Amino acid sequence: MRYKSKKFLIDGFNVDKIAKTYKTPVYCYSFKRLRENIKDFKKNFKRINPLTCFSVKANSNKILLNEIGKLGLGADVVSIGELLKALKSGIKPNKIVFSGVGKTKNELSFAIEKKILLINAESKSEILEIEKIAKSKKRKVNVGIRLNPNTDAKTLSQISTGKKENKFGVSEKRFLELTKYIRHSKYMNLKCLSVHIGSQILDIKPYEKMLMVLNKIIKKTNYHFEYIDLGGGMGIDYKNSNKKLNLKKYSLIVKKFKEKHKTKIIFEPGRSIIGNSGILITKIIYIKEGHKKNFVILDAAMNDFMRPALYNARHRIIPAIKNESQSNKTYEFVGPICESTDKFSTNKKFQKLHENDLILICDVGAYGMSLSSNYNTRPKPVEILIKNSKIKIINKRQNLKDLI
Ligand SMILES: *Cc1c(COP(=O)(O)O)cnc(C)c1O
Repeated sequence: MRYKSKKFLIDGFNVDKIAKTYKTPVYCYSFKRLRENIKDFKKNFKRINPLTCFSVKANSNKILLNEIGKLGLGADVVSIGELLKALKSGIKPNKIVFSGVGKTKNELSFAIEKKILLINAESKSEILEIEKIAKSKKRKVNVGIRLNPNTDAKTLSQISTGKKENKFGVSEKRFLELTKYIRHSKYMNLKCLSVHIGSQILDIKPYEKMLMVLNKIIKKTNYHFEYIDLGGGMGIDYKNSNKKLNLKKYSLIVKKFKEKHKTKIIFEPGRSIIGNSGILITKIIYIKEGHKKNFVILDAAMNDFMRPALYNARHRIIPAIKNESQSNKTYEFVGPICESTDKFSTNKKFQKLHENDLILICDVGAYGMSLSSNYNTRPKPVEILIKNSKIKIINKRQNLKDLI
């Protein structure tokens, strides 16, 4: 993904040609980038030989899941819908883990039927429900318990999950109680301790703290966990400032941890696998003069890409075709939706733009399409994948008839 004689190319394809063929807005993914990310991840963690389960909520496109599965990853799912998608995409049940605070009886039954690797339970009530279902099916079910390690991930508060005020996991005290309970149950095997402290983590320190908490609690349980699931959360470089989590450093501390506990490590990365492999191509409908800034009104909106509105996340915005001019006013990039939060970014410096110009929103591969909605009765955009010098539609644009 780069400029060549001022035009932006994705794996050799001109963005303006893509836009002409597939219309806008369009989510465009690079298979090459996805494959490189997975290769990179594997290389960094090779010394640990982990089971890597892609977090399906980051991107649940079935064709992408199929590719991710073929590249050797399993799946971390949080609903029966995601579980079905992962299975349908060819990911084997013995590489699937199921997280989430509100798994229903129906979801648990289905997961047990399918013999997935692990159900990571998040409460006592859920454990009791799993036991009831297992008993009725005369089965012994593999479970993990998700611990809330009370560790601050030092990321956006909206995507922090490991502090005691967050709804996720169980407290240390509860964890010890549940460990005892499951060890004496005829219908459950205690296989795993799981944690996931949050997302877009750029600093190693929260992970170090998390491992320290785990060391302490494992000692207290005096139990050998076959698996320890460290979750995901590895941050990526949204700002293009070369600040991203040092995976190698992380892998070195995890290696020590793994050797100490003689366990198999599971990771659940989402963003770090797919985030930078997607770009949203959108067109300027109007440019409207405001008081101190000009509004650049795009044909993509918060329903297509919600991270800025939902988390106040900032994504790089770049032109499809570069020019040398400089706008004399600040540009605010917004969508057409009737909400003031339908805003992508405010840029003091930008090249001069015109109506119908194409604009690219970068790094939208994770939590992009999977968070999209039909708000304002807007059809969801098309998704395309560039692989081996070919473009393939991997999810058709919704049409109005589907909605009305
Ligand atoms: C969302 C989530 C992940 C993935 O987080 P990333 O920041 O995308 O790596 C992993 N595990 C659980 C339990 C999650 O909820």
